[in-house]
This record gives sequence, C-alpha cells and structure tokens, in this order.
Amino acid sequence: MEKKEFKSESKRLLDLMINSIYTNKDIFLRELISNASDALDKIYYRSLTDKKVKVKKDSLEINLSLDKDKRLITITDNGIGMTKEELEENLGTIAKSGSLSFKENMTKKEKIDIIGQFGVGFYSAFMVSDKIKVTSLSLDSEDAYTWESSGVDGYTIKKAKKETPGTEIILSIKEDTEEFEYSKYLDEYEIKSLVKKYSDYISFPIKMEVTHSKLVDEKKHKYEDQKEIETLNSMVPIWKKNKKDVTDEDYNNFYMDKFSDYDKPLKVITSSVEGMASYQALLFIPSHAPYDFYTENYEKGLSLYTSGVMIMEKCADLLPDYFSFVKGIVDSEDLSLNISREMLQESHNLKIIAKNIEGKIRKELETMLKDDRDNYISFFKTFGMQLKYGIYNNYGQDKEKLQDLIMFYSAKEEKLITLSEYVKAMPKDQEVIYYAAGSSIEKIKSLPQVEQVKDKNYDILYLTDYVDSFAITAINEYESKKFVNVESGDLDLETEEEKEALKKVNDDNNNLLKDMQEEIKEVSEVRFSNKLKNHPVCLTSKGDISIEMQKVFDAMPNDMGIKAQTILEINEKHPISTKLKDLYKNDKEEFKKYTKILYSEAKIIAGLPIDNPTEISSLICDVISK
Ligand code: ADP
Repeated sequence: MEKKEFKSESKRLLDLMINSIYTNKDIFLRELISNASDALDKIYYRSLTDKKVKVKKDSLEINLSLDKDKRLITITDNGIGMTKEELEENLGTIAKSGSLSFKENMTKKEKIDIIGQFGVGFYSAFMVSDKIKVTSLSLDSEDAYTWESSGVDGYTIKKAKKETPGTEIILSIKEDTEEFEYSKYLDEYEIKSLVKKYSDYISFPIKMEVTHSKLVDEKKHKYEDQKEIETLNSMVPIWKKNKKDVTDEDYNNFYMDKFSDYDKPLKVITSSVEGMASYQALLFIPSHAPYDFYTENYEKGLSLYTSGVMIMEKCADLLPDYFSFVKGIVDSEDLSLNISREMLQESHNLKIIAKNIEGKIRKELETMLKDDRDNYISFFKTFGMQLKYGIYNNYGQDKEKLQDLIMFYSAKEEKLITLSEYVKAMPKDQEVIYYAAGSSIEKIKSLPQVEQVKDKNYDILYLTDYVDSFAITAINEYESKKFVNVESGDLDLETEEEKEALKKVNDDNNNLLKDMQEEIKEVSEVRFSNKLKNHPVCLTSKGDISIEMQKVFDAMPNDMGIKAQTILEINEKHPISTKLKDLYKNDKEEFKKYTKILYSEAKIIAGLPIDNPTEISSLICDVISK
C-alpha cells in the first residue's frame, strides 16, 4: 500500500514530539479525550438541528480500554467521526495555517515554544506510542477508513469495517526506557487518576472496564477479581461546579486543555449571573499572546453552551474587539438550542450577556491594576496595545471605558503609570498633561524638546507604540486636562519677559528667517527659540498631525500624503545663531548651505528620513573642509 508523507512542517513537529522534549507526557490522554468529546458535541448538535440524525444524548460516551500484554490503549467515541478526507486533512497535517520558524540547534525552550504555538493536539499521542491506528466512520460517509502511522516516515489510509459513526484510536505504547516508564499508562489506576486530573469536567461519560478485587467467600477469605464498567469522570462541567470545590490547578488544567495553551492563564474570571439572562461564565486571560494574535487569522470569541451543550465554538458577539484576547466559556439556559447562528446574533439575551461580560472583564482588570500591579503590568505589556486600539476605534466611543486601564512610561517615575496617577502627581502650577513620542524610551529621552518641560519639574509620558499618539488624540482630555505634545510648537512655558525678548529677536530677524524658509519649503515656519538648552535645532509641529503620526502614515501601504506641519526652531543662545546672522550679512551662499544642513540635523533628531542624503553629505563636507 502506498505510504503518504506528512507535510514537511508536520513532520518536523512530529519529530520534536516523538523525541519527547515535552516533559509532561501525561497530557496525551486529555488531548485525545478532548477530541472525542468535541466529536460527541458535534454529533449531538447535529441531532438537534437535523431531523434525520437520531442520537440520544445518554448514548454518547467515550470508552477506554487497556491491554497490558499487547501494550495497547484504545480510546473509542461514538461521535461525528471523520471521512477519508478528514482523516487525511486533520491527522496528516497540522490543522492550522501559518509557518513555523524551525531553526538548526534549537534550545529546549524554543522547541517547546514551537509545539506550544500549535497546541499539542493529536500528535501528542506520539510521545507515548510507536504506532497509532485510527479507525473512523463519519456520520456523512458510507465507508469507514483506518489511518495508521508509526511516526515521521508517513502514514497509510485504507478502507475499514465499522458499522456506527465514531472513532476508535489504538495506541501501541512504547517500550520502557531508562529515562521513562511508559508501561505506567497501561495501569488502570494511573489512567483513572489521569482522567480525574485532566478530564473530570468532560460532559460525556468516560467509561473503562476496571478490575475490583471482591470478597466472595468470607470464611475462606477468598477474593476474586471482578470486572466492572466504571464511569471515571464526574461529568459536571467545571463552570457549573461550586467555586470552592475547584482548585486553581483544576482551572489551569481546564484552560490548557480546552484552549491548547502550554502555559497556565494569567487570570481566571468566574461569573454567575441570575436575572434577565442567566448564565455562567468562565473566562481566562492568557499569560502570553497566541502566536497568531496579531494576524488576520486570529478569531476572537467565547465558546457558547446552552445547558451544558456546546452550540458555538467561538461566538464573536460575546466579546468586544478590545477584549479579543479573552478566552472562555459562557453557558446560558436562556438561549434556545435550535435557533440558527444568524438568529442567535440577533438574540436580545445574547446582547445582554455580552454587555455583562464586557463589564465583568473591565472590572476584573481594574481590580487587578489596583491590587495586583505586577500581574497587571505583565498583562498590559502583552495585550495593552489592544486596549489602546479600543480607545481610538469606533470614533473613540469606548474611550471612557478604557482610559483608566491604559498605562504609559513616566519620565519621572521611570516605569508605567496610569493617567490618573499622572494627574494626581501634577504640581499645582501644571495645567496640562505632557507627552513625547518616539520609537524607544532612549530616543525620546534625548529629544531636545523634552528638556524644557523636565526643567519645570513636570512629568512627561513617553509614548513608544505607534498607536499611542492616536489613542491620546482620541482621549483628548483627561480629568479636564488637555494633552500636549512636547514637540508641538507652543508649549507656553516661558515667562512674559522671556516671551517678549524672544518675540523681539524673531521680529528683528524676520528677513533672515523668511529666507531660511525659502530654502526649506517643507517646513511651514523657521524661528528662533529659547526652549532648547544644549541642542542647536529641533523640529516641532503645529496642528492635529504630530511628527509621530506622520511617521505612521508614511509607513502605510497607501500613503495618503498626510504630513505634519513642521517648524524648524533654532536655539537662540547657541553659537550657531550668531553664525547664521553673520553669514546672512556676509555670505548668502554659505548661509543657504547652513540652512539645509541644520534642517537635516533637526530631521535626524526627530527620526525622520532625509530625502537628499547625497546632497546633504557633500554640503557638510564643503563646510567642514573650510
Ligand atoms: P485540535 O483538536 O486542536 O483541532 P488535533 O490535532 O487534536 O487538533 O485534532 C485535529 C482535528 O482532528 C480535530 O480538530 C478534529 O477535527 C479531528 N479529530 C481528532 N480526533 C477526533 C475524533 N475522535 N473524532 C472526530 N474528529 C477528530
């Protein structure tokens, strides 16, 4: 029979898996049970929506059986099954799209991260088995098929006999090695405790034939082994259990299993609401962003159950975009099982639930910020971008809900602070909130414009994400305090006398400044300034578009030519000012060269590209060779 190859990435993933760099091999069982449970959910849902499919809920189950002598574990479900194509598609490739970055000589951590990125899934069975045989009959197919593989060298698919829909998976357990005793998985007691630990909440019975030693003759003390089918799990969904009966570890295990994460969640949120729309919710904030979080492939949503039956795997309407990172489950008796997805979206009850959930997540985040700051900062570093997007999306309509959840780096505190903390710490004479934007803290620190504000003993928020300026612009005002960009032209920090003196310098040199601007038409104004301490020049902006925003627009694929209105400011106390005045009188040609060089300098400091680097570098050479 023809042997088929795994797709190359699957092959490498499998290779990592078989060579068992993943330390927790136990999880293979919960992965297979979880797949079986999904298959049971699917067939039950079909029976509710398709009259031709007749399934009784209490007939649905997962069966485990162990054969110590042959070293086999068999996991059977009477769920939806897989067609030939599905076997090929689901088990022959990694289901998810995206490319893995395999490198030579990866560290153990890198390898685990790669496996983690894709969820361990079905392949984890190869950690403990040297051969896997999957026989399945799909509800939608006449013929059953067997998929078989001994690992990286490929798999075969052939027709099989199976009368009723469902899947049977037979694992041939590896021989024991010095490092690991695989035989433990053939032990009844071990399997029972693994099911209890990882799969207790599964809503279908997980049954296994177990051996009990029974006293059959009291006088003779005679015991006999008796076999009995036992249900190993309590079947109560974890979100329906009393919170005090569930340990943190239970929640963590449930999360990792259900949402294929290799790390425990950063935060678990439980909520039980009785009222107009009653529901239980079990929500999780992951500790790291899913590998595809910032791609178009990422689908937000919560799993939606009604009375314990899953009706939708990812219900997007339950989460606003700014909380798209939240994973979890919502179970409500107030949603009808039989309505279509389209009708569900229109459901009034669903809208009420979504609104409550949004509020609950927000409150939990606020509490975390207040009481558990380290964790919050870790959360914010991972998902804060999403909150900042949320502020300026939809024309800023959600900004009030989110503005107390965002943080920026404070120049004074040298750490992340909230807007409210900034305002509370403002000196009496400070009227506005200052911020400065740039690609890194270091770069912002060295901006010439920062000095003047710091000298006044005012704090500055350093904005390093490109969404930051947009979020701040959308907020516009916080506790009646305007936001002011330190790079904007009019900071208004001087005394009246200083202003007067400066005005006089600018008036006196009006012609010089005009001629400079003639040379560099891009800027809307050139002026002398007293805001710079040591730097000769800087670029500031006026109007709604800041230089940082212009950089974002410039980087967009469809450049709309949106530009900041810039001002070239020259340090009036710097020797360069005298030099300029001197040249203006005596050597106009040289004056023009200086103008261009100074403007380029200001652009470099602002992090803007120079359009004519060759011209500028020969000008510099000209000037310094004199
Ligand atoms: P995941 O469960 O994360 O999608 P897996 O590798 O565990 O990834 O499984 C891949 C797919 O194979 C599943 O999504 C499902 O469609 C299919 N599958 C696995 N086990 C079963 C089963 N027992 N019955 C039906 N389909 C299954």
